[in-house]
Amino acid sequence: TKLTNSPHYPILQETLNNVFKLQSFRKNQLEAVIACMDGRDVFVLMPTGGGKSLCYQLPAVCSSMLKNQVTIVVTPLLALMADQVTQLRSRFNINAHAWSDSSINFGHLSSGSIPIIYVTPEKLKESGYARSTLRMLAAKSLIGRFVIDEAHCISTWGQDFRDAYASLGELRDLYPDVPIIALTATANQTTVNDIITQLKLHNDVVRLTQSFNRPNLSYTVIEKKSGFKNEIVDALGNRFRNQSGVIYCRARQTCESFAQFLRDKGIRAGHYHAGMEPDDRKQASDDWMEGRVKVIVATIAFGMGIDKADDFGHKDFTATQDMINKDEKTDLESKQRQIAAAKEIYAYARNRSTCRRKQVLHHFEEPFQEEECQKTCDVCKDPLELINEDATDIARAVLKILSHATRQNAHLAQGTIVAALRGSANRDVLQKGADKLEGYSLAKGVDADLIELTIKELMYIEVLQMHSVQNKFSGYHNEYITLGPTAGLFLKELDNKPFVLGWRPK
Ligand code: ADP
Ligand code: ZN
Repeated sequence: TKLTNSPHYPILQETLNNVFKLQSFRKNQLEAVIACMDGRDVFVLMPTGGGKSLCYQLPAVCSSMLKNQVTIVVTPLLALMADQVTQLRSRFNINAHAWSDSSINFGHLSSGSIPIIYVTPEKLKESGYARSTLRMLAAKSLIGRFVIDEAHCISTWGQDFRDAYASLGELRDLYPDVPIIALTATANQTTVNDIITQLKLHNDVVRLTQSFNRPNLSYTVIEKKSGFKNEIVDALGNRFRNQSGVIYCRARQTCESFAQFLRDKGIRAGHYHAGMEPDDRKQASDDWMEGRVKVIVATIAFGMGIDKADDFGHKDFTATQDMINKDEKTDLESKQRQIAAAKEIYAYARNRSTCRRKQVLHHFEEPFQEEECQKTCDVCKDPLELINEDATDIARAVLKILSHATRQNAHLAQGTIVAALRGSANRDVLQKGADKLEGYSLAKGVDADLIELTIKELMYIEVLQMHSVQNKFSGYHNEYITLGPTAGLFLKELDNKPFVLGWRPK
């Protein structure tokens, strides 16, 4: 109610409806636009998709109407800039421009006909022309504000530090009367403070932050095994039958080939990455938005509009590390930062004992109570505990009894294997002759669930295989276990590399 008392509220609401064709403000947007119109410095931390653009585009339009002012938006990527300008022009009929030496001059800018200009930090730094123009505009109070988009790039604490961003601190010295709005989607507390210091924002800066928890998302990490492509096809046909989705990949080439693979399996799939022509990219994203394709296979360019070199995916850590180290365009310090980030992702994928939400929010230094997750992540649904148990001997025993069983043509179910290894002489063991097999009693005294877990993990890496046969008379399915395709190699490696069980169900 206090916000709607602001003298700026009526024009902001009207412009929201009539120019941006939106009904109402989202969280923190009204706070941000009012603070902008009040001429305050503003810091906005909002998750991707939260609606950061409106926080400066709306005041830009209003300041242009009211005071002939231009809003200058510093944004890191040329490609992104072009998209934004095109969108503002075609969707909202806003006379936005990208800063390039030839297309705009002081006359245009001071006439008040251009509400928003986008510029890269590099351009702003190198262009003396820009500087003299800006000085003239500032002298006439025609600059509404500087907007620093992706403001975390100014901080060496962040993962995307950019040299040219560092010089943005000069804006305050050169144009002390022009308010500065900084926006980002990724900054922990340290980075936030650093951004505010580096940009020399005023002490009374309006800080608008919000939780990074997304209650509408659930999180599951599944390890990639050899048949994972078909598993995805299965999941798309069953669990996600009536839904659409995005599959993120690390490499552009993988996006194309995997989308093709899905199409061959009869799934409506498209691909998206920053190496595509803008028209093709737009077509791909429209096709997905409008339901013509069910799945879009994309690099992180999709949704963020950014396609960066440190585009981490699921491939194992060593491959990612290799990729970072090989990149000749990146300096050592950034490489170390990128590797640290990769390690963090890897740890996230491996950690099966801490709520996923808690892990994600920990990255943003935001406390989180696990109960709040309400079992909407794989960890909370199925908690595991870290055991780090050396199961080398158990694995050897399992392989021993199974290789003898194969030679004897005996079909052993998991229960029989476990009982035999523990030296039991129950009916099942005797009936199968398992007490006569090599390896019998080799794991005497070992917990049954530890042997079961070993078998499960060995199946997971295809050292063992599960078979199912239907009994002709009873109709029941009998399951039995045999050696799998990687058993020989695994056994050889076992001499140098212990087999460790990481986790078990709580
Ligand atoms: P961000 O930059 O924070 O990732 P955007 O500014 O690109 O997010 O906005 C994400 C989407 O949300 C856009 O499609 C935008 O049109 C939409 N949006 C923003 N604000 C509102 C609002 N108040 N009401 C409805 N949709 C909104
Ligand atoms: Zn959880």
